[in-house]
Amino acid sequence: VGRQRRERLSRCEAIVIGRLDLGEADRIFTLMSRERGKIRVIAKGVRRPSSRMAPHLEYFTRCRLMLAQGRDLDVVTSAETIVAMPALRTDLGLFGHASYAAEMLSRLTEDEQELPEAFGLLAHTLSLLGDGVEPSLVLRHFDLGLFTLLGFRPELYRCVVCRQPLVAETNALSGGLGGMVCPRCRHADLSAPQVSVNGQKLIRTLDRDGLAGAATLRPDSGVAAEVERAFALYARHLLDRDLATPRVVRAIQEGLVPAYGTDR
Ligand SMILES: [Zn+2]
Repeated sequence: VGRQRRERLSRCEAIVIGRLDLGEADRIFTLMSRERGKIRVIAKGVRRPSSRMAPHLEYFTRCRLMLAQGRDLDVVTSAETIVAMPALRTDLGLFGHASYAAEMLSRLTEDEQELPEAFGLLAHTLSLLGDGVEPSLVLRHFDLGLFTLLGFRPELYRCVVCRQPLVAETNALSGGLGGMVCPRCRHADLSAPQVSVNGQKLIRTLDRDGLAGAATLRPDSGVAAEVERAFALYARHLLDRDLATPRVVRAIQEGLVPAYGTDR
């Protein structure tokens, strides 16, 4: 009996990205876990003031959990904080930025889709936000990293239609075509948002030199907003497609997925 019980327990490392009250004192948590991707678990009695688990299950806390297999959802049996991230809950602006990253990841991945790189990317992004790094850069770096590890890295250096290298002029970013489109080929996707030369410079610098390189550009708010909008439309297009798991797996196997935990 003891052995059977042990087999039904599992350990995981996770970041709290959502929660929903259930019944009198319970709560369902949505977690991005390192081991199993996005999962939903239940914590019993966690809304009681006496709950010892509650402080470890705050929004954006990175924690180590012990889970017991339940009929529908696994049940949290113990929780321990690894990184608390209090700034992301006390500062409304930072809470919004952290929520953006969590929601983007949640919407673009399936439940139980194993993506340890996505977990790493989210953890890294939240810690940069908590450290006060410019959110508009941190989040665009996150967007680009997420597109890449899901197998939808945009082509940034050549027109995706005519394959000519892009020159310093206003081009457009097409979600449907998977990258930048030159003005001669723009007819191929008229809905693609235009990106100025400075906007493209920001995107390419994020791609090539990571966050540290992009920070030296000091983009003004207009450029930051333009790139934010272009990436949002790119993400919207991805949401409309089937995020086929084999494609993700292939991207990882082919080494298209960058390593996180460093600056890139
Ligand atoms: Zn072209």
